[in-house]
Amino acid sequence: MHGATTMTDTYRNYIDGEWCDSVSGRLFDNINPADTRETVSRHAASDARDAAAAVAAAAAAFPAWRKTPIGKRAKILNDAATYLEANADAFAAELTREEGKALNLARDEIVRSAQTLRFYAVEGQTYTGETFPNDDPDMVVYTQREPLGVVTVISPWNFPVSIPARKIAPALIAGNTVVFKPSSDAPLSGLRLAEAFVKAGIPRGVLNFLTGSAGEVGETIVASPAVRAVSFTGSTSAGEQIHRAVSMTTRTQMELGGKNPLIVMEDADLDQAVDLAVKGGLSLSGQACTGTSRIIVMAAVKQAFTEKLVARVKALKIGSGLQTGMDLGPLATRKQRETVLGYIEIGKQEATLLQGGTALTEGDFAHGFYVAPTIFTDVTMSMRIAREEIFGPVLAIIEASSYADAMAKANDTEYGLSAAIATRNARYAHDFANDIESGTVKINRTTTGNLVNAPFGGLKRSSTATFRESGRAGLEFYTQVKTVYRGC
Ligand code: NAD
Repeated sequence: MHGATTMTDTYRNYIDGEWCDSVSGRLFDNINPADTRETVSRHAASDARDAAAAVAAAAAAFPAWRKTPIGKRAKILNDAATYLEANADAFAAELTREEGKALNLARDEIVRSAQTLRFYAVEGQTYTGETFPNDDPDMVVYTQREPLGVVTVISPWNFPVSIPARKIAPALIAGNTVVFKPSSDAPLSGLRLAEAFVKAGIPRGVLNFLTGSAGEVGETIVASPAVRAVSFTGSTSAGEQIHRAVSMTTRTQMELGGKNPLIVMEDADLDQAVDLAVKGGLSLSGQACTGTSRIIVMAAVKQAFTEKLVARVKALKIGSGLQTGMDLGPLATRKQRETVLGYIEIGKQEATLLQGGTALTEGDFAHGFYVAPTIFTDVTMSMRIAREEIFGPVLAIIEASSYADAMAKANDTEYGLSAAIATRNARYAHDFANDIESGTVKINRTTTGNLVNAPFGGLKRSSTATFRESGRAGLEFYTQVKTVYRGC
């Protein structure tokens, strides 16, 4: 079964209404991070010529798409959702094989992406402008919301369907045309999303999908004059680079890195706090942008909390996402594992290792990118493992002496994506929501997870200070306002 590379399916770009090879004809391999002997799929290695064709097709399709009745646009979103739901099991298995997450989480992601499409099919039809009272009885003053034009969607590998779904759905329902580039580390799931729109009958050029390296296609899909907006989710360094590359008239929405804290107060339910730490920090092997990375614990409960946490982490079942009952899969890429192991070595120099701290390379783990879930304690805010995004199954325990001390430590970061507190004290909960510098705030809930219908985004270097995504906020990004004074 493994290593059956001769049977590997090859997938193409979708540009201007056609499935097509890249101009160069080159391909790249998409491998299974749980077993690198398996090539899951092969994809078109696009270059600037393919990217230019995708942008040109989107530009040509825009005038007709913006005038397509919104009911027709909504039907395409709903039909694409139906296709995702009908194929959820098969697409979830592919997602697990290319990215490594547990099969049930992969399935949830497909179903949730379908929900996102359905949400925007409705919400996009109620998103309107305003009317303004004025002194002229023969004049109506109102705003109308219009699409921007060609928008580029660039997504990472960790949520390869739900992240592009929450960008593409509001873009399309608002009347924009799209160029979509998924991560080369999870291209097949992105392709399935594009395929859903194709099966739903999306007109030629309205959605263009291309795979390939950022180095070869990035500049064209980001900086071409026809591109009016770029919605990007990925690393802070890449996001900042893209933000600098675009012109003044191109909108950007950048969802970037995090260093998300969970504060455990002295009155917390410690079992619940451990649950929040494990689910928020270690599911997806720590590869969620909103994953818990710093656990700031009050001194009075530090020992009790730590003992419970270590016991819980020791009992976690590690393995391929295709195995039922596993808690922790591999890291998604070789590079990611090297980065995480590098930070673990740094942590061993800086702090006290309590649990894990190694790659897993024996037996079933021999061919995958596995790292043991790792806990450091005695971490202080000057240490690199307390400051830099690791994006792996590594938790840092930081002691705090008071609510004020905990809050100062929580806010002592250049990031501000998500933050949580475990407490039974309403005063702490109330103050935390006000004091924390974070775009998402959770009280007795994991730092991870966000609703389809609520806005999502970060503060500080976790996001551009522009537009939120998800919910109605997602529609704001993809529309511009025109103010009309209509007399007679
Ligand atoms: P990455 O930045 O390496 O790549 C993300 C995507 O951007 C890929 O498709 C990549 O090919 C493309 N890309 C990279 N540089 C580009 C450039 N200069 N021009 C155009 N495209 C470019 O990130 P990754 O390793 O795929 O994902 C992990 C990162 O994503 C982490 O930092 C994580 O915090 C972040 N993330 C953030 C959120 C969020 O909502 N804030 C969600 C998930 C992941």
